[in-house]
Parts: sequence; structure tokens; C-alpha cells
Amino acid sequence: MSASHVPPRLEIRNLVRRFDGQTVVDHVSLSIAPGQVTCLLGPSGCGKSTTLRMIAGVDTQDEGTIHVDGSLVCDTVFRIPPERRSIGLMFQDFALFPHMSVGENVSFGLRTSASEKRATATRLLDRVGLAHYIDFYPHHLSGGEQQRVALARAMAPEPKIMLMDEPFSGLDNRLRDGIRDETLDLLKEAGAAVLLVTHEPEEAMRMADEIALMRDGRIVQQGAPYNIFNAPADKGAMAFFSDIN
Ligand code: ADP
Ligand code: MG
Repeated sequence: MSASHVPPRLEIRNLVRRFDGQTVVDHVSLSIAPGQVTCLLGPSGCGKSTTLRMIAGVDTQDEGTIHVDGSLVCDTVFRIPPERRSIGLMFQDFALFPHMSVGENVSFGLRTSASEKRATATRLLDRVGLAHYIDFYPHHLSGGEQQRVALARAMAPEPKIMLMDEPFSGLDNRLRDGIRDETLDLLKEAGAAVLLVTHEPEEAMRMADEIALMRDGRIVQQGAPYNIFNAPADKGAMAFFSDIN
């Protein structure tokens, strides 16, 4: 089978979501290959989180389909529950469990023996430079360290897809760049398809293989970061990028 026949890891087609008669996600389509990072970029309220929630399965679309590796995950009648979608999640306020150690947080949800759980936690914490904190509790760690533990936790079940909703916006600028790079390395190494939601053009430029620019529920432009940056499709897109120097 040639590469062109391999289905995308994640494919959403014509997703629509309406609340109270108002269309907040309007025929959104995206394909993401294994190891590819796509940024859904747009201003607050344009429908980014709602799109992510439907893919995660915590909300259901009114129209459209979601496929993973070519298999149907969800349409308007058929629906695989969130825990069986092989999806990892990272949110800004997706807190660690305070009463569990760092290692227990990372291996939480794995259905393996205690020794395997600890081995997995050790390996992933080592990967984010925090293996020495395995028996500490989250409150002993800085915000940036907690975020790296959250990344290790999200990666532990080896998800095929990683959905990230503004995961770095709670961190100060000094930490952010390092964590962004570390996160990218880990996700690419694991071959996950990544959909990263952000309202910051600079973050999308830094992290994305592809940017999907969203406005009022629609994707208005899609392509490689520098193509979009250099040739915004319209005045709205141009204004959105005008803060970057
Ligand atoms: P973003 O993540 O881009 O900031 P959201 O997807 O959170 O945007 O929201 C898009 C729009 O949908 C907003 O106008 C928001 O108020 C509305 N919305 C989101 N969730 C709900 C809901 N459960 N009920 C009603 N309206 C909602
Ligand atoms: Mg949001």
C-alpha cells in the first residue's frame, strides 16, 4: 500500500454544532496525519473549544463525521464513547489530582500491574526531566513542572490523537518556549496527530505544521504557517496576524 492510501489519523468532515438555534461550529473539516501538528487558531468565542469537545466525545455534533485511522468514531447516529477514542487531552486548567503523587497521576487510568505503572511513569517523567519528582505531590511542583506532568499523564495511554486547548496560556513567558519545544518533541516522537487550539498567532507560528484559521465557526484559511502569515486570505486574517513582528 503506498503512502497516499494511508488514511489520516484524524479526519473530521463538515462538523456542525448549534446552540439555541445559533451555529457556533459551521461545517468544519480537517485531516491530520500521524506526527502532524495542526493549530486551530482564532479569536475567543469562534468555536475552537466546541470543535475539540466534539472530537473528544464530551459533546456531540449536530452534523458531520469523525474518523480515526479511517474508522468511523462518530456521526449523528453512531458514537464511540470518549474513553474508547484513543485521545489524550491537555487543557490549561486540567489540574493534576492533588491527593495523588506525581507518579500516580501519570499512571492513573492505565490498566496494568503496579510495577508496570511505575515503569511507565518513570519513563515518561524521565522524558520530561522530572523523574526525581515521582513520589512528590503536585503542590511541591511549579506551574511549569505540573504542566509537564500533565503532558506525561496525557501521553501514558499512548493516544493516537492529542487534543490541546490553550495548554500553555497559564504559564509565564519565560517558561513557555521551553515547554512548547519539549511538548512538540514528545508528541512527534510518539507519532500522535495533534490538534492544538490557540488564540495566539505566535504560538501557532511556532508549533504548527499546518494552521487552520477559524472565525465565526468557520475555517477561513488553511495551510503552512508561513503561507498564511505571508498571504492572509482577507483583512480579518491580516488583522489577526498584525501583532506578530
Ligand atoms: P472558543 O474556544 O473559540 O473561545 P467556544 O467553542 O468556547 O469558543 O464557544 C463558541 C461559542 O459557542 C461561544 O459563543 C459560546 O458562548 C458558545 N457556547 C459554547 N458552549 C456552549 C453551550 N454549552 N451552550 C451554549 N452556548 C455555548
Ligand atoms: Mg476555548
